Amino acid sequence: MDLESVKGEIERVVVTDEKLQARLKEIAAQIEADYKNQDLLLIGVLKGAVMVMADLSRYINRHLDMDWMAVSSYGSGTKSSGVVRIMKDLDKDITGRNVLIVEDIVDTGLTLDWLSANLKSRGAKSVEIMTVLRKPESAQVEVAVKYVGFDIPKDFVIGYGLDFNEKYRNLPFIAVLAKHMYE
Ligand code: IMP
Ligand code: MG
Repeated sequence: MDLESVKGEIERVVVTDEKLQARLKEIAAQIEADYKNQDLLLIGVLKGAVMVMADLSRYINRHLDMDWMAVSSYGSGTKSSGVVRIMKDLDKDITGRNVLIVEDIVDTGLTLDWLSANLKSRGAKSVEIMTVLRKPESAQVEVAVKYVGFDIPKDFVIGYGLDFNEKYRNLPFIAVLAKHMYE
């Protein structure tokens, strides 16, 4: 869906499609170098990470495995709670694997803090995190994120996998949702 289709619903574009793809190519090259000659398993967090997983993985020029998890951080709307529940677990065992979690956004950090501890406890050899976006001002826990697309202000954003009530995931760019859409 293009910008024109949501003109009256967004406040401003935060990251354009072009900038996003260029940054993902850079991160893909870093990942190739960092995991050279090593096993690599990308774990995407549904549903937000679908877009980044599809694009990032295609920029990585090597073999890799993919798996998916769905977690719910209880509650809807624009606030996150920190109480995490697994809605869909991994298909395969990750013992001894080099896991790279692929996420859309680190907001409070509560979801990823919990998820990375959970995956470590299953005996992964390493657990690292890649996120498209991070909101440093919203951090409630410090999460070590190895690859960050962009640091952004703490406004509620939508697009490129990120939703508001399940809408806007199919925008190719990231934008701040207009306040009149949820207040
Ligand atoms: P956390 O606060 O870091 O635990 O983030 C929990 C989840 O809240 C993220 O994985 C997103 O699904 C969602 N989330 C946080 N900030 C935003 C936002 O600005 N837009 C859309 N979803 C968000
Ligand atoms: Mg998410």
